Amino acid sequence: MISVDAAWAVSSYIFFGLALVIGKWIFYNSNGDKEIFERSEFLEQCPYCTHLFFDYQRSHLKVCPRCQSYLSVNPGEGRKP
Ligand SMILES: [Zn+2]
Repeated sequence: MISVDAAWAVSSYIFFGLALVIGKWIFYNSNGDKEIFERSEFLEQCPYCTHLFFDYQRSHLKVCPRCQSYLSVNPGEGRKP
């Protein structure tokens, strides 16, 4: 039988709490940067209303979701990653 006194219980509670917080911090920081970087490749901005939106189809003719303006991007032009 393992005897648990108050000091050991408090120290283990703090240790596992900190381990959980630091583990989640490392997990979200390591995955969050890559995800934001991958999403930023598809980020487009409307030159008329400055609305930011994601365009995953990478088509040459885009429509702004806010002002419904047609935006054309020629090949070789546009946002560079
Ligand atoms: Zn717009």
